[in-house]
Amino acid sequence: NPNRCSVIIVGAGISGISAAKVLTENGVDDVVILEATDRIGGRIRKEEFGGVTVELGAGWIAGVGGKQSNPVWELAHQSNLRTILSDYSNARYNIYDHSGKIFPSGIAADSYKKAVDSAIQKLRNQESNVVDDDDEDDDDSILSETTPTQKTPIELAIDFVLHDFEMAEVEPISTYVDFGEREYLVADERGYEYLLYKMAESFLDTSEGKILDSRLQLNKVVGEIQQSRNGVLVKTEDGCFYEANYVILSASIGVLQSQLISFLPPLPRWKTEAILNCEVMVYTKIFLKFPYKFWPCGPDKEFFIYAYHRRGYYTFWQHMENAYPGCDILVVTLTNEESKRIEAQTDEETMKEAMEVLRNMFGPEIPDAIDILVPRWWNNPFQRGSYTNYPIYVNQQLLRNIKAPVERIFFTGEHTSEKFSGYVHGGYLSGIETSKALLEEIRKENERKTEGQAFL
Ligand code: FAD
Repeated sequence: NPNRCSVIIVGAGISGISAAKVLTENGVDDVVILEATDRIGGRIRKEEFGGVTVELGAGWIAGVGGKQSNPVWELAHQSNLRTILSDYSNARYNIYDHSGKIFPSGIAADSYKKAVDSAIQKLRNQESNVVDDDDEDDDDSILSETTPTQKTPIELAIDFVLHDFEMAEVEPISTYVDFGEREYLVADERGYEYLLYKMAESFLDTSEGKILDSRLQLNKVVGEIQQSRNGVLVKTEDGCFYEANYVILSASIGVLQSQLISFLPPLPRWKTEAILNCEVMVYTKIFLKFPYKFWPCGPDKEFFIYAYHRRGYYTFWQHMENAYPGCDILVVTLTNEESKRIEAQTDEETMKEAMEVLRNMFGPEIPDAIDILVPRWWNNPFQRGSYTNYPIYVNQQLLRNIKAPVERIFFTGEHTSEKFSGYVHGGYLSGIETSKALLEEIRKENERKTEGQAFL
């Protein structure tokens, strides 16, 4: 069978590519990567907008400047990727109310400190709750006693920024603890995805920046994975069949929840339950292009916040002048329910809402946006969300079950990373880890075969 190989890798995001690289470097080079879309990169994805390159998915290399080196930061260095340090700390001094007044820095700093303290307290409660009672999730009553409910627009805005955007300030997240607290925005015409091309180039045939290697198969939507004692059979939606000894599956948790892929025999209950118990976060960056700048533009004004009575309603803004001077582009970040809401409406409606918010902040005379870009990660059948959002005190068994192979199917991707889920480096490191586990399994299987033959 021409479509027979050692390992099939489903998905050509960073985890799939890093998994394939490790396998080929270790002598397993008859791999086939089946990717549903017409490109590699997955949630790392650039697009041309308003004359520059913008990142619809991952935008930052998060966790730089610490004791250990972030491997993605190293890849960026090797590729000479252009990056710019982001300093979110000024955002708290650029909080607008809905009549356009900036909160005085004293009030803003005070509210910020209060929100951080209360978030830390909330975490401590969760921690002691987890220690007291490992498997019960009944912390709501404790929280409502100790944390005041946040109600004012400024409190809602800060709560959104702390929890949905810049979590490093309150939570002991491994990314920042291990790799450092700095974050660098990727601002490179070749895109964040250039890192993946560089990686792919080292083991796949390429020519003039294009991958020309039959081991990478684009536009192949995997619809079914069958496994037996001896191997796996993978079916794609265009009617092709691929056979292999093993599969590495890198589709996101959202995709696994959506049942795009059916399994024969069905996945065991411990696996399907773990998949269903994972929370998927939706995170949307909306880009708006203007005929000219009307917002304050100093480097300490890069991030600004809109305080409104509805949590997460066009709250967090960024101007792109530091990345691309003269581009006249603003970015606003929405999450979860707000993301789903705007995905369901037309881009014109979204532009109208955003303009109303901007006019509240900067006055009625500002010009209309001339272009808008709204990524739709939630409705993308090959994503179904942006990244996993494990609670900080995560049930370890859940994580182990998400990660554990089912016979010949190995799971990889951002969601299987114990320490760095939700990040590019989480995806990258998970690919390496999964491949190493599979190489070990292949070694053991070969050993069993040799023993069997010796016995005969
Ligand atoms: P993916 O990139 O999703 O790769 C999986 C691949 O599988 C995809 O290419 C998909 O098309 C393919 N696939 C799915 N189903 C099938 C199928 N049935 N058949 C064949 N192929 C299939 N991380 C950071 O570090 N910094 C950030 O600033 C950051 N910001 C983000 C902002 C957004 C909006 C999003 C969406 C993500 C962000 N992330 C960020 C997270 C980061 O992008 C991901 O953690 C990482 O890219 C995931 O890589 P992966 O290989 O696990 O998954």
